[in-house]
Amino acid sequence: MSSESARRSNALRDAASETTGFLSVDEGEALRAAASHAAGARLGPLLEIGSYLGRSTLFLAAGIAASGTSTVLYSIDHHHGSEEMQAGWPDHEGSLVDEATGKMDSLPRWRQRIEACNADDLVIGVIGSSARIASNWSTTLSLVFIDGGHGAAVEWADYRGWSPKLAPGGLLAIHDVFADPADGGRPPYECYLDALASGGFVEAGDYAADSLRVLVATGPATPAALTRASKRSAATPPSITSAAMTTAAEE
Ligand code: MG
Repeated sequence: MSSESARRSNALRDAASETTGFLSVDEGEALRAAASHAAGARLGPLLEIGSYLGRSTLFLAAGIAASGTSTVLYSIDHHHGSEEMQAGWPDHEGSLVDEATGKMDSLPRWRQRIEACNADDLVIGVIGSSARIASNWSTTLSLVFIDGGHGAAVEWADYRGWSPKLAPGGLLAIHDVFADPADGGRPPYECYLDALASGGFVEAGDYAADSLRVLVATGPATPAALTRASKRSAATPPSITSAAMTTAAEE
């Protein structure tokens, strides 16, 4: 790594650490390392689902900066907040409510933060529904980070919509993966298990931190394996999934 790349990466990492969000610093460092690896492998651009106020965006940008490549991160969010960020939920942030519409809007603060940290050449904001964007997306990706809405329908749509876009050797990162139901909701953990069971991914344990898990797409078998896994779970959902989905819906 050149000294300029290292200097810029460290500055972005420091800025990310001071940015509001839900990622721990250890998780952010792991994401930075994963992003540096993915960008350096030159398999395509990187993509995250769940921009919010830019914390993970800047950790990922720090990884791209470290790689010294000219690739970019696409950062997808409708910016109206996930289910768990709406009024009455613990993650609600009242200062993000747009007075004119009454809706949450995190886009102005996300954009201010990315520009203040001089990361706008590394990051491209994509505003809209993740599922709709995925269904219109044809560029192969080197890294996908799933950290959007954590309800079952949204998480599974993000996983099924985006994981097949990875190049062989690309990285699938999922946040809020909790093996113990006492620690958090089920859908991220179930998607992580599904990826492993599909045969299209293996664990990249070096990048695991707190509730962040990272998997490597293993190659040409990936799309077929995912298709099989999707058909199987659509026809006969495993009991753990249906039980957890019911629980999530009741929350
Ligand atoms: Mg998260």
